Amino acid sequence: MREFGIYIHIPFCKSKCDYCNFYSIPLTKLKNTYNSNFTEFYLGLLIKEIEINIKKYHLENARIKSIYFGGGTPSVMPSVFFSGLMEFIGKNFKIAVDAEITTEVNPESCDLEKLYGLKALGFNRLSIGAQSFDDGVLKTAGRIHNKNDIYSAVNNAKKAEFGNISLDLIIGLPGQTKNIFLDDINHILDIAPEHISAYMLSIEKGSLFYKIYNDKNCLPAHKSPEFIGEEKIADYYIILCEILSGQFYEHYEISNFAKKGYESRHNINYWNRGEYLGLGPSASSFLKLEDGKEIRKTNVPDLEKYIRNISRDNCEEESGRIKKRNSGQNKNDGDFAEILTKNDKINEEIFLSLRTSHGINEKRLRELAGSEIIDRFIKEGLMQNFKDNISLTLKGMLLSSEIFARIMA
Ligand code: SF4
Repeated sequence: MREFGIYIHIPFCKSKCDYCNFYSIPLTKLKNTYNSNFTEFYLGLLIKEIEINIKKYHLENARIKSIYFGGGTPSVMPSVFFSGLMEFIGKNFKIAVDAEITTEVNPESCDLEKLYGLKALGFNRLSIGAQSFDDGVLKTAGRIHNKNDIYSAVNNAKKAEFGNISLDLIIGLPGQTKNIFLDDINHILDIAPEHISAYMLSIEKGSLFYKIYNDKNCLPAHKSPEFIGEEKIADYYIILCEILSGQFYEHYEISNFAKKGYESRHNINYWNRGEYLGLGPSASSFLKLEDGKEIRKTNVPDLEKYIRNISRDNCEEESGRIKKRNSGQNKNDGDFAEILTKNDKINEEIFLSLRTSHGINEKRLRELAGSEIIDRFIKEGLMQNFKDNISLTLKGMLLSSEIFARIMA
């Protein structure tokens, strides 16, 4: 039976964090533009998008093995939104009995009543955006929660009987000294979540940090955040990996750690090149067509354009939007879709497998990338053999982008 995961993007946040370049709109802006029935309206759009995709990609009767609400901030949505969407998904697909159903929540919008409601709807995993436990660091990053809010969110999650909690941490936020970072780790160990995602800060185009970083006159010197250099961030990452492995967390992917049996199944499906359907502005999908072709598509990261596209049943293929990679189409101009070439598939197989701790079968990797470069990576201490597989070492994980670029060169 055809199986896939569903990702639902909620592009709304209470306010914008200074490091963030994900597509999301502050709620205040939304309220000025749309009327109070917007939740219902957005639910209707997502339902319509599911209907379009079922018809177009013959997804009827497929089995859903994971559902993930991400954002943005899904926890700003009212319970009626989650129940409406879950009901529609349940009616149109078979949800596997053991499906992993996750929503991201932010500490300040994670009240007990909402969590009870989510639990009753079948949600069995929460991903809490902690990022740091230092109130000063959180403030500098533009977060609107504090350390106490994180603890309340975790307590609420436990009261609502969520037995699978993931905490997000950012490594290298401005002002995060080594002591503050060690303190962050101590708080995480104190909470002992089943899963931890730890991302190294990168200054992304589109974020306020990017603007400040590239324009020294953007803010008066005393107000400018103190950015931490890459070297320090790499040190922090190694410290975190070492401490967590001593606490029985498996470092199962570059940025992810889990207690045994609590690896994120939704994300594992991405790295295994399993099918998934992404819904909402900026959401991506990977689908396998009946003729053997594979398609990756990304919705336009713009709410108004997304509304227009869904309202007119936009179909990328019919409007001639399917392009080959490097065709020059700007993703921001509209929905984007591409049929993968043989080379794309090979590259994806290498990069996605190498993100994980089990890596890729050695014989297969040598066939795909060539033995010479693999031997060089092993010699440089960036890759290692493990049984029949090859995986990245810790140093290799830190330099993964460079390794992937060298393989593709
Ligand atoms: S980091 Fe999360 S909460 Fe902050 S603006 Fe981005 S999506 Fe919203």
